[in-house]
This record gives sequence, structure tokens and C-alpha cells, in this order.
Amino acid sequence: MIDFELEPQIVKLLSVYHATAENLMRPISRRYDEHEHEEPWEFWNAIWSASRNRSAQGVEPPPASARNLFTCLTTEELCWGDAGLFLSIPNPGLGGAAVAAAGTPEQRARFLSRFRDGKPKWAAMAITEPGCGSDSAAISTTARREGDHWVINGTKIFCTAGLMSAEKSEGFVVVWASVDRNAGRAGIKPFVVEHNTPGMTVVRVENKLGIRASDTAMLSFEDCRVPLDHLLGSPEVTPEGGFKDVMATFDATRPIVAAMAIGVGRAALDFVREFFQRNNVPVRYGISTRRQTAIERDFIEMETQLKAARLLTWRAAWMLDAGLRNSLEASMAKAKAGRVVTLITQKAVELLGPLGYSRKELVEKWMRDAKINDIFEGTQQINLLIIARRILGYSSKELN
Ligand SMILES: Cc1cc2nc3c(=O)[nH]c(=O)nc-3n(C[C@H](O)[C@H](O)[C@H](O)COP(=O)(O)OP(=O)(O)OC[C@H]3O[C@@H](n4cnc5c(N)ncnc54)[C@H](O)[C@@H]3O)c2cc1C
Repeated sequence: MIDFELEPQIVKLLSVYHATAENLMRPISRRYDEHEHEEPWEFWNAIWSASRNRSAQGVEPPPASARNLFTCLTTEELCWGDAGLFLSIPNPGLGGAAVAAAGTPEQRARFLSRFRDGKPKWAAMAITEPGCGSDSAAISTTARREGDHWVINGTKIFCTAGLMSAEKSEGFVVVWASVDRNAGRAGIKPFVVEHNTPGMTVVRVENKLGIRASDTAMLSFEDCRVPLDHLLGSPEVTPEGGFKDVMATFDATRPIVAAMAIGVGRAALDFVREFFQRNNVPVRYGISTRRQTAIERDFIEMETQLKAARLLTWRAAWMLDAGLRNSLEASMAKAKAGRVVTLITQKAVELLGPLGYSRKELVEKWMRDAKINDIFEGTQQINLLIIARRILGYSSKELN
């Protein structure tokens, strides 16, 4: 009745992604961690040529009925390679997820391509502001209608791929702004702002703890004019309004962030396993925990937690593919995977001692890369809050 085995066609495709992670990402992982704002063009060029080769060789894409699950599987593989480089890969990304969730069929066809005039493009999503993070209903950026245009004013911070999307490629940023501040969350709508639109400026690019190969930008919008049909979906202000599109975007992106976390956690776990094998440190399964060493118990616990997070993530993605509402499961996967990867990578550093702490190996980097999975796309606390609300049947007003 239930089968968790991946089909041979998927396993074959994943081995290609694993080779990319191992051969293209790992060798440059440290370099782009240490040179935070350098652009990894040799990696991007290699990725495009690999993807062109795959199409030329007629490698079959995964079935459309498993698109979200497949995205999670490939995300895990690539983040096993390097999570920061993964986030830097040119693609519609978070901006694309917002277009897919909130756009009309015509808008999806117009904006959701990976290339423009043969050149790759990035797309970002800007919700967070200096005064608004977890409580996205508090957005203060505004969009007012003026003739044939919306005029956007406000500041957005911590926008992943903001620089590449806004200025350095032919991409776009999806900006969430209020068309009617008196209407609260009902008035919040997403707008596509094309690269280099006058009025949109990259104020700065952040220096970060982890995922340093990924650009994170602060953007300002000053009388930034976009055509009317760049508002995604309907301009009508209804009780739920565009906010349900924010939530629909998260339902699609949270399983992907969970898969990112799993990839980083697996990298650390694999490293520890190989270290134990090389140094004859046994891990004995199937014996009483009373007879196991503390190291064995720690390691088996790490493996177990990672598998649990992976199963929750697959379920959340599978539900999305099946057209089922997955808000609860997406938050469960994200909360579990974010916590698990933080614990696994810290434990890996601890078990390996000086080797784990040294910059000679990537384990300390994975510990830094891990933490973001507990912050963006809803923090650990916010996802736990959503889970509690959904299980107990409370509204966001009743439980906050
Ligand atoms: C590297 C990076 C990339 C990012 N990329 C993007 C992006 O592409 N687009 C985008 O829009 N944003 C992005 N963000 C922003 C991110 O989504 C926010 O940082 C996050 O939502 C938290 O918001 P905040 O920082 O304002 O924290 P706050 O909301 O101020 O929260 C601070 C702390 O309080 C806790 N907290 C808040 N409210 C509650 C509550 N009700 N109950 C319990 N605890 C609570 C939080 O969990 C957190 O621990 C990114 C952030 C980083 C660091």
C-alpha cells in the first residue's frame, strides 16, 4: 500500500545531481565561503552546460506528477554539495515560487522562464522589511495606483539573490506591498519588478555567518513604477487578500528549505561516518543501548533524526504534487529539518573535536550553513506556532 522506494529512473537522474555536487560544488565550496561576494561564474557556466547536455542526451525529466518531490530530492543532493552555491544557481527561485502560487496562467507563462534571450536569469522574493519579519502582515511598503502603473515605495531587507535579480541579470524581484494599509493583510499584494526598473536600488549586500556564496540584499523602492499587469493575480482587495498567496508560496518553498537542511545534515553525517570508518571507531547497531558507547548513541540518533526529517519532507512535497493542502505538513517538515540540521552539524563538530572546528575541513562551514534553515521561510518558532494553530484549530488572532 505504501512504497517509499524511489523509481529507478529517479535514482538514475539523482546520480547525475550527486556527481554535480561532488565534482563541481565541493571543490569550490571553501573558496566562495571565504570570498563572500565573488560570483562563481565557472560553476554557473558548468551547471548550464551540464543541463544542456542532459537535454541533448535526451535524459528523461521526472514525471510532472512528482515535480515538487523531485525538486526536494535534487535540492538535498545539491545542498550535500554546498547550500550557498545551490542558492546562487540562476533560476526562478523564490520569485518564481511566488509567481507560480499567485500569478494567472498568462503571468506564469510570461515570467517563469529560466532564460531570457538565451541568458540565464535570477528571481527573488522580497517580503521582509526593517520593521516586519515573522509578522508579514505588518508590511509597510506601499503600492499606489497612478494611471497605467503601480507606484511602489518602501524598503526590503535580506532578499536572497536580490543583487542578481535586481541588477545583474535580466531577472525580477517579487515585491510584497500594501495597496490599502487600512485593509491590513487583505491589502497585501505581490508585484513583479523587472531588473533595473528605475526607482529600485540595491542598497547593500549583507556579510553573513553562512551560505556566503548566496547574495542577500537590501533593496529600496522610491516611486518605482511597474505596469498594472505586474500585480500577480487579482487586484481586488478581498478578506483573505494576497496574504493567502504568501501562505501558498510558503507551502511550496518550505519543503524545499527542509530538503536543503537535510542535504547539509547528510554531508556532516557522511563525513563523520567516513572518519569513524578510517579510524576504526565502531558503530554497533542492534545491540542494547546499555551496551552502546555515547558516541554510538549520538551517531545513531543523528541518523534517525535525519531520516525522520526526510520522511516529513517527502510527505509535504508529495501532498503538493497530489494537489492536497499541505500547510501543516510543510511547516512540520521545515521545523523538524531546521532543528535537526542545527543539532547534527553541531554534534559533528563536537564528535570530531579539533578536526571539526578547523577550517581545513568543511564541517565547521556546514555548522554555519545549517542555521539559516531555522530562520528563513519562517523561523523555527513561527513554524511551531503554525503547527499548533492547525492542530488545535486556532486562528492567527487567537494564538500568536
Ligand atoms: C540569509 C537570509 C536570507 C533571507 N532571504 C529572504 C528572502 O529571500 N526574502 C524575504 O522576504 N526574507 C528573507 N529573509 C528574512 C527572513 O525570512 C526573516 O529574517 C525571518 O522571517 C525572521 O524575521 P525577522 O528577522 O524580522 O525576525 P523577527 O520576526 O523579529 O523574530 C525574531 C525572533 O523572535 C521570534 N518570534 C517572532 N515572533 C514570534 C512569535 N509570535 N512567537 C514566538 N517567537 C517569535 C522569531 O522566531 C525569532 O527567533 C532572509 C533572512 C536571512 C538571514
